[in-house]
Amino acid sequence: MRQKIVAGNWKMNLEYNEGLSIFSEVINMVNDEVTGKQSAIVCCPYTYLHSLAQLAKNHPKVSVGAQNCHQEEAGAFTGEISARMIRSVGAEYVILGHSERRQYFGETNELLAKKADVVLNNSLKPIFCVGETLEERESGQHFEVIKTQLKEGIFHLSTEQFGQVIIAYEPVWAIGTGKTATAQQAQEIHAFIRNEIAANYNQEVADDTTILYGGSCNTKNAHELFSQADIDGGLIGGASLKSRDFVDIIKAFN
Ligand code: 13P
Repeated sequence: MRQKIVAGNWKMNLEYNEGLSIFSEVINMVNDEVTGKQSAIVCCPYTYLHSLAQLAKNHPKVSVGAQNCHQEEAGAFTGEISARMIRSVGAEYVILGHSERRQYFGETNELLAKKADVVLNNSLKPIFCVGETLEERESGQHFEVIKTQLKEGIFHLSTEQFGQVIIAYEPVWAIGTGKTATAQQAQEIHAFIRNEIAANYNQEVADDTTILYGGSCNTKNAHELFSQADIDGGLIGGASLKSRDFVDIIKAFN
């Protein structure tokens, strides 16, 4: 079902105690201040998942997710974390295909297709990231790049499985740079993504898909971005590390 969602991606930041207090503040502020139907997801480091999931238990508007998982169900993969482990500590979401994973850890669309399968097989929901680099945008390849990421990463899923997927459009050139895509640039890509979903599945599936924008989204630009027809919320990096800013972004819907 199409939802209004703001997800935080803490990346490799915050110590355990800092994370716990920020998350507790987020829960309290969401309870006190968020009156609409929107909900929040916090994607934290693996080692904090269980504690955050415990804190979120009786708060239906706030959920917890991981930032990655391994592509195999289980086995001799020293140091890795499986989807089943993530599910077993109470998390509900997993970010897949973040540009930092693609860029620094060599994650390919083919690998991400496997990760999407394992996440869904373990009753978790993927937040699947797509987005072009500056070079790809400047050479006019952005639509094609995003189309390929979708096609090779998640369009093999059944209609039922696809119903569990959240998509995040994160232009690489906007991540952590303070250089946000304009609301028009973001809307153009979101509409394109929705059209691709309609072409691969059908219009109903496309209309039901939640598509988030990420990349220097903050308290100042969130309202304009979230007012666009095909933007259903945000995936927030830097601004999710401050509870006040994160909750103000959650409140930025119409
Ligand atoms: P920033 O909000 O810090 O630009 O990061 C965006 C992001 O990568 C979220 O996944």
